[in-house]
Amino acid sequence: TPRIGVLALQGDVREHLAALSRCGADAVPVRRPGELVDLDAIVLPGGESTTIDKLSVIFEVREPLIARLRAGMPAYGSCAGMIMLADRVLDGRPDQRSFGGLDVTVRRNAFGRQVDSFEDDLQLDGITGPAAPFHAIFIRAPWVEAAGPGVRVLGTAAGHPVAVETDTLLATSFHPEVGGDDRVHAYFVAKVRATLLAGLRAPAEDADR
Ligand code: GLN
Repeated sequence: TPRIGVLALQGDVREHLAALSRCGADAVPVRRPGELVDLDAIVLPGGESTTIDKLSVIFEVREPLIARLRAGMPAYGSCAGMIMLADRVLDGRPDQRSFGGLDVTVRRNAFGRQVDSFEDDLQLDGITGPAAPFHAIFIRAPWVEAAGPGVRVLGTAAGHPVAVETDTLLATSFHPEVGGDDRVHAYFVAKVRATLLAGLRAPAEDADR
């Protein structure tokens, strides 16, 4: 059972914990540096990215979290969490910082004031089938403005990428934790399991050579 933390500084932490538990993960809230140590993966929830940034400094998790992300720990960010995972942020506050790790440029509050919040039925590669799109809820959501070569786009809304992944990272502009459809969380838990298995296999393969 993978142990997956949810960064619990601000935002919709409980909803992510519940969705991860339903998908068979050992889901734990993370607030302190020591709580990062035994995690297999982490979820960065939706909320307010500038607040999460500031609280991460106060709670002294910013640097150890960045270190774990750099070392390849799997992570999933939804909405504000996508912003926190992005290497580059447009339309942020002047002093806004992300944790980084995901080679994308995101535009904060990209869908604009006229459509603060909206819902859309999305096709997500590897997650949905044509007969059952994902009913996605967007709340002052970012979009992916540009993505590096190692980033795969899983889904778009209004012509912009809103779900992207690498081998270990996943990010969505929308909030799958509030809709009651656990397919995105199940996809992430499977990704974490695959990463753990790959890590276990690697030493054995080395021994064979
Ligand atoms: N607009 C928020 C931000 O910039 C994100 C909104 C959300 O997470 N629902 O952090």
